[in-house]
Amino acid sequence: MRRKALKYLGCPECKSELETENIRTWKGDIRSGHLKCRRCGLSFPIVVGRPVLMTAGSIDHWKAPVDEALGIDAPVLPPLSIPRLVSLGIDEALKMAEAERVRQSIQTNTKMKSIPEIPEAVIEKMKYRDSGEWFKKGSRAERHLKFPWKDGDPSDSFNIFMKTIVDTEATSLLDLASGGGSAVSHQVFLNGGLEQTLSVERDLKCLGNIQYRFRYAGRSRTSEAVGGDVRKLPVRTEGIDTIMMLMALPEIHGITIVLKEAYRVLKKGGYFIILVMELPFNGDLISLSEFVRFAEETDLYSGYEKFQSDAEGCGFRIIESEHISEASGKISRLISLRKQ
Ligand SMILES: [Zn+2]
Repeated sequence: MRRKALKYLGCPECKSELETENIRTWKGDIRSGHLKCRRCGLSFPIVVGRPVLMTAGSIDHWKAPVDEALGIDAPVLPPLSIPRLVSLGIDEALKMAEAERVRQSIQTNTKMKSIPEIPEAVIEKMKYRDSGEWFKKGSRAERHLKFPWKDGDPSDSFNIFMKTIVDTEATSLLDLASGGGSAVSHQVFLNGGLEQTLSVERDLKCLGNIQYRFRYAGRSRTSEAVGGDVRKLPVRTEGIDTIMMLMALPEIHGITIVLKEAYRVLKKGGYFIILVMELPFNGDLISLSEFVRFAEETDLYSGYEKFQSDAEGCGFRIIESEHISEASGKISRLISLRKQ
């Protein structure tokens, strides 16, 4: 990571400035060491050049949002543990979710701890992906490293999303729940006006992929993949011009918390641009109305209308909400929010 990113990064717990400790740099890039919070003293590692700004409680394997809401720590039942809801029934699942909510509210009063150490196996995966070797397998390069997507077809929803972000004329950009980084790397490729891009992703091995993509797009000096939880953004308050998020809402437990965090980190007048399916994902295993009943109670994605009203509740103004037909026959929605 580059030192200049520290102007935007902050402690995920108290949002204060971070300072470097025992760092090793190579060609202006911080490769290892720690970032320490000036206020609360929490310490965060830099691994394979990537800052991992999460606490001991939040760094674990990815869980399906349904399992998180229920407080179940077991392998995901594909797709997205919807079969768990089917077998429990919604009434029973809501009782479990309530018990979990009580347990979590007790836990939030306990003091957060620094991450002791990142497991060696995870570091190896990060290195492998950062080296670009991952992309050389099969036809991954062909599928994942193609800029611009579909030769920039202006009717494609991904390209409409990309253009909407470019049009906000941001100099600082934050991508939430980046996954492998296909959207954010396209954006930095297309958008020469960006001075700093941060891509926040919880799955550490993905950070290697994202940073490789930034390098491939020729923007690694101004773009950083950061380990973080979108509900506890490791980003300072009011430093970001535009936030983007592609199709990630159905994978998150705590939608209103993400909205509040997004609102906090944006500058006044800043934009939050989202592309998402209009309907929540129910895997065709449970009726939509039953899934929505569970999702609304447990703060999962329950459809664009509820999302938009939650966004307004946070103080955002809806600038645009566009219905887009996908080639698959499904309907997606492009939502532009603005901080008042
Ligand atoms: Zn702190």
